[in-house]
Amino acid sequence: MRILLIEDEHKIAQALKRGLEQEAYAVDVLYEGIQGMARALRGNYDLLILDRMLPGVADGLEICRAIRKAGLHQPVLVLTAKDATADRVDGLDDGADDYLSKPFSFEELLARIRALLRRPNQTLGTSLKVADLELRPDTFTVQRDGKTIQLSNKEFALLEYFMRNPDRILTKDQIIKHVWDFDADILPNTVEAFVASLRQKVDRPFPQPLLHTVRGFGYKFTTTP
Ligand code: CA
Repeated sequence: MRILLIEDEHKIAQALKRGLEQEAYAVDVLYEGIQGMARALRGNYDLLILDRMLPGVADGLEICRAIRKAGLHQPVLVLTAKDATADRVDGLDDGADDYLSKPFSFEELLARIRALLRRPNQTLGTSLKVADLELRPDTFTVQRDGKTIQLSNKEFALLEYFMRNPDRILTKDQIIKHVWDFDADILPNTVEAFVASLRQKVDRPFPQPLLHTVRGFGYKFTTTP
């Protein structure tokens, strides 16, 4: 899952980026409101984390209003030093999905992110399931047919992206945009290499393959190829 973080306090931004990357999220950081808004409008993010007080804009919520006006629906979490009720209501009216007042704990941030990324039809905790394969973003564990599978951070992120988009053809370009950040120089054959290693662990030992190559297009994660 790829996250855009717009936060002008470099120390906080870098600490959040490092922490989130350890949780297998890909994170792009921008430190200023105008550039942040331009990047947010280009889309391709699964979630936005937005500081409320940003240079370049009168209010971070301007970015929120702009992306909603542009028809983008990804979840937006607003970080704020203000925690007055009126400010919260403002933010929610402007299309923010959740609020977190500084200072906050990293665990709290992670919990909010997981809740926001949960699809509306996933009511049973945070676990993702396709056939006998289960991935739990909260505990970082993957099991298939009751057996635990060890994955690297990137393999985990890749599998999570596939499992959040089952039965859809995903191009290598889409995969790169959702699993890697913009500092990573990723080529399509890097994706192929990661898919191959993921397949080795998640599919090969089991009778039913889930990760299918759609020649000329990309990949499809499905029980019904
Ligand atoms: Ca700020």
